[in-house]
Amino acid sequence: MIVILREHPDQVQLDGLLSWLKERKIDVHPTVGAHQTILGLIGDTSRIDMDLISALDIVEEVKRVQEPYKNANRKFHPEDTIVRVGDTQIGGDTLTLIAGPCSVETKEQIIGVAKAVKESGATILRGGAFKPRTSPYSFQGLQVEGIRLLLEAKEATGLPICTEIMDANQLPVFEDVDILQVGARNMQNFSLLKELGKTQKPILLKRGMSASYEDLLMSAEYILAGGNPNVILCERGIRTFETYTRNTLDLAAIPVLKTLTHLPILIDPSHATGRSALVPAMAKASVAGGADGVEIEVHNDPAHAWCDGPQSITPAVFDKLVKELQLIRAAC
Ligand code: PEP
Ligand code: MN
Repeated sequence: MIVILREHPDQVQLDGLLSWLKERKIDVHPTVGAHQTILGLIGDTSRIDMDLISALDIVEEVKRVQEPYKNANRKFHPEDTIVRVGDTQIGGDTLTLIAGPCSVETKEQIIGVAKAVKESGATILRGGAFKPRTSPYSFQGLQVEGIRLLLEAKEATGLPICTEIMDANQLPVFEDVDILQVGARNMQNFSLLKELGKTQKPILLKRGMSASYEDLLMSAEYILAGGNPNVILCERGIRTFETYTRNTLDLAAIPVLKTLTHLPILIDPSHATGRSALVPAMAKASVAGGADGVEIEVHNDPAHAWCDGPQSITPAVFDKLVKELQLIRAAC
C-alpha cells in the first residue's frame, strides 16, 4: 500500500499514523521529495482499512498495490488447493462432475437421477433442498425432507452430496452433507460465510450475479480467514444486457481466477445459460478452458421438473457429455 502525504503534513498527525501502523506490524519506507512525501507500507496490509488512512487531513491519496485478500491469494499460496470430498477430490488431476436436479422432488426422482449420473461418471450428486426462489410463491424446496432424501441417494449410490445452505441456523441439518453450496444470492451473506468459516466443510461458493472477481475472492476470504481452507469457487453466469440466455457465462473467469487464486474453479453452465440446448457446448468450453469441473442440472423428466426444467439436461445427454468432457480433459 502507498500513502501519498499532502505538503507540510502536521507532525503530530504523522507521528500518530506511524505509530498506528507500527502497532499493526507494518514497516514504513518513506520517500521524501521536494514537495511531497510518499510512504511505502510493507507487511500484511490486507487488514489495514484504507478509508481510515484516506480520511486523515495529512493524506492526499492511498493506493493498494496488493490485493486485499491474503488467504485466497495465489501469491502467498502458490500450489493449487485440492479439496477432499469423500473418496473423491476437487482440484488437482480430478475432473469434478457434479450432477443432479435443481431440486429434490421425490425419493424415486432423486435416487433415479443419482443412479443414472453415477453410472455415467458423475463424482458428486447435487440437489436443492432449501431453494432460494425469486418469488415467495414458488416451490421453496422440500427442505429438511429434501436433505433426508439426498442422504438416501448417497446411501444408494455412494456419491457424496452437494446442496445449498441459506442460513447458518440450518447447519445442524447439514451435518452429513458433504459439500455446502452457497448460492449466488448469498455470496455476500457475510454472517453465513463467517459461520461456514468455523466449520471444516467443503464450501462451494457461487459467484453473485453482479459480483466482480474481487468480490468473489473477498467472500472466499471470509471463509478462509475463519479457518476453513476447503473453498471451491463456481462461476455461474453474470447479469448483462443480453436476455437470450438467463445469464452470460463469463469463461474468462477461469484463467483469471486461476491466476489470482489457488482455489479450485468449477463452472455451472446450467444457471449460466438457462437453456438445456446450450449446456453441453458451454460445459465443453469450460473444461477446455481449464476449469476443475462442472456443476450441471440433470433431470429425468425436464418438462415436468418442479424447478429449472428448461435448463436441465436428461441423463442420456449427460452420459454422452461426460464422455466428451473426459476426452477434452485428457487432451488438455
Ligand atoms: C442452484 O445451483 O441451485 C442455484 C440456485 O444456483 P445459483 O445460486 O447459481 O443461482
Ligand atoms: Mn437451479
